[in-house]
Amino acid sequence: MWNTIPRRGSFRTRVFWLLLALFAAGPAASLAQPPAQLPILHSEHGPNSAAAQRAHYVVLVSLDGFRWDYAVRDHATHLLQLGREGAWAPDGMLPSYPSLTFPNHLSLITGLYPEHHGILANSFLDPARTAAGKPDRYSIRDAAAVTDGSWYSGVPLWSQAEAQGMRTACLFWPGSEAEIAGQRPSEYLRFDDHIDENLRLKQVVAWLQEPAATRPHFITVYFSDVDHAGHAFGPDAPQTHAAIQHVDALVGQLQQDLQQTGLPVDLVVVSDHGMIATEGPWITLSDYADLSGFATDGPLLYGRTEADRQRVYDQLKHASDKFQVYRLRDVPPELHYNRNQRAGDPVVIPTGPYAIRAVAPANGRPDHAPIPGSHGYNPRWMPQMKASFFAAGPDIRPGSRVAPFENVNLYPWIATMLGLHLPTSPLPVDGKLSILSGTLRQQHSTQPSHPEGKTQ
Ligand SMILES: [Zn+2]
Ligand SMILES: [Zn+2]
Repeated sequence: MWNTIPRRGSFRTRVFWLLLALFAAGPAASLAQPPAQLPILHSEHGPNSAAAQRAHYVVLVSLDGFRWDYAVRDHATHLLQLGREGAWAPDGMLPSYPSLTFPNHLSLITGLYPEHHGILANSFLDPARTAAGKPDRYSIRDAAAVTDGSWYSGVPLWSQAEAQGMRTACLFWPGSEAEIAGQRPSEYLRFDDHIDENLRLKQVVAWLQEPAATRPHFITVYFSDVDHAGHAFGPDAPQTHAAIQHVDALVGQLQQDLQQTGLPVDLVVVSDHGMIATEGPWITLSDYADLSGFATDGPLLYGRTEADRQRVYDQLKHASDKFQVYRLRDVPPELHYNRNQRAGDPVVIPTGPYAIRAVAPANGRPDHAPIPGSHGYNPRWMPQMKASFFAAGPDIRPGSRVAPFENVNLYPWIATMLGLHLPTSPLPVDGKLSILSGTLRQQHSTQPSHPEGKTQ
């Protein structure tokens, strides 16, 4: 989610947009009608190359906070049908650590673990930028930071496609508002979660109805409802069930619309992480350790000196069974979270669904209780953090079931469906095509092969 707490009045605003959309579209709305005007931003890119025009299409949908077991639990018939027609991870997809929205959307779109793509949390500090006198705090609520490409490493799928002459469009995706790896999507929007969801679907179809020269081949779409409900009411609440049904219906509508375009479109539906009911009051690290000499951001701790870092590590080490503490270099390697200074040092990892912060709000500022649902935890300790994966289309073998896999592996798989070469610099992607290649049909002949594709 972009915002931790649903904005006040957002439901009313959404109803307003819905009514507006109904009036604007009328009862006889058809696919041929352009959607109501959305504030789309355009980047200067030429037409699709001849090779790109022969490539297939991928529509990548993010259902924020859609836990891996929600679809079966709540009978999400459209998603389950999509999985039967193509590929499904019935036991879930592993988010990267931490299982937060921005780190995982960037992992999905760059094929890199957070310590490599650089977005280590939804809000964090960068000690190197502090030392260089540059703006040193990244926050998803700070438009200047979110749109500043210097925070991001790696090559998002849209940048990789654009660099290879293939046009792309993003109807929201974290990072899509910044220039990354020298590219932006051909079309994208500033994030505004009030934009009606049916208008989002209409826009996807409108993009696919553009002439072949300008029609984007890779499109992203984003829906936040399930995450918002899970946070506000908890993963088991009726409101969360209703949100699951709602986004499932959106996916069903989208699949129907895509079929009517007659184009070879692979529809890939994922989530960034799961959700768990939060337990207990705030755990405040400054109750256990002397944080003088530290900068903090949420639960993240940035010691200025080695002595400070070791002192606080020692003070926190046996302080509570509600969290584990590690020096940055000693964070377990399977988390891929021990190399980047933006993670802070020491690193505190909750052992259960606890709300942890470095310090309490300053005097006079309100101290709210933790919200009912949360995520961000280690998916290997808490399976409730696992995410969803469903996909179907001309490149995907029907009836493919895949065991839980790390979300960085989607990148080479989607790149293969689009016929894109994988980036090798500045970093090779962390994901491997071999993890999901068994779900692919034979490569069609018009696609240029890429190095990993030949080994299938
Ligand atoms: Zn969330
Ligand atoms: Zn999220």
